[in-house]
Amino acid sequence: MIKLEQLKKIFNTGGGEVAALDGVDVDIKKGEFVAIMGRSGSGKSTMLNILGCMDQPTSGRYLLSDQDVSRLNDDELSKIRNEYIGFVFQSFHLLPRLTALQNVMLPLRFATPERQKSGQKRAEELLDKVGLADRMHHLPNEMSGGQIQRVAIARSLINKPHVLLADEPTGNLDTKMSKQIIDLIVDLNRQGQTIVMVTHEPDIAAHAGRTIRVLDGRIV
Ligand code: ADP
Ligand code: MG
Repeated sequence: MIKLEQLKKIFNTGGGEVAALDGVDVDIKKGEFVAIMGRSGSGKSTMLNILGCMDQPTSGRYLLSDQDVSRLNDDELSKIRNEYIGFVFQSFHLLPRLTALQNVMLPLRFATPERQKSGQKRAEELLDKVGLADRMHHLPNEMSGGQIQRVAIARSLINKPHVLLADEPTGNLDTKMSKQIIDLIVDLNRQGQTIVMVTHEPDIAAHAGRTIRVLDGRIV
């Protein structure tokens, strides 16, 4: 489903060039749950941003579902992003004045009225699936951090993404809430969802089927 070939990402900074990714080869199959680990500054977020079509490589190839997405323009990339990718971040990015249900439906705001209608049903089902059937009409400030992250996960799944990308999804949560979130992620993977998750916590990575270790922009 995902294939990176000799992928490089060079940033030009005031102090010169930084190779955030320095020739990376990665293969991820449909239905896999992969953790990406490595210390701070090793290139994990850069890799996830490229996997999520939020950024483009400097060189190398990225094949997503057999399509070469490494040379697309911004419009084409955002289309791929909407259709193929779900993203969950460390900080939760919910809109504060929208309810849980409205937040989950946010990615559908440009869809046709018919799709919005079927989307609402799916949003309700997803909130039920993440254990928030009784919180649908609550605002973010009426929910705990763990509940908010579960809303964010439900939202990331509304468009049935081919792959769910998560960057430190438990990074801002206490142990108990982290456990709930990782249990949910494992459950989604058991139901067939392909997942790539960045974490620096070994006990969180231990839930994945496989771990990719990154150091100084290379896979070790
Ligand atoms: P990680 O997520 O593993 O902490 P990052 O992918 O964020 O690492 O960063 C990898 C390297 O690339 C670091 O040296 C970082 O400073 C650099 N870097 C990341 N993003 C940028 C950017 N937008 N501009 C310049 N340098 C960047
Ligand atoms: Mg990072």
